[in-house]
Amino acid sequence: MAITTITVIRDNDDAFFAWTTAGEGFFLNEHKPGSMMLHQAACPHFKGKFDPSATSKPKFLAADRQDLEQVSPGAVPCADCRL
Ligand SMILES: [Zn+2]
Repeated sequence: MAITTITVIRDNDDAFFAWTTAGEGFFLNEHKPGSMMLHQAACPHFKGKFDPSATSKPKFLAADRQDLEQVSPGAVPCADCRL
């Protein structure tokens, strides 16, 4: 079995935006209850200020898209990321 490397960020927008600004990799976001959406790090949805915070729901980060698809096979690709 392949070893996957997934980082979870929750309630830490500084860490999340530092990672998205670097622009390398992919992440999952629970866009509605029980449903994950797959984004690129550079996704335009996740810029600027969020209320209460962008990471009030956990974000699952990985360098490889396949790692995230393995843990969340039903994840919906974000239309704005052009995945
Ligand atoms: Zn996106």
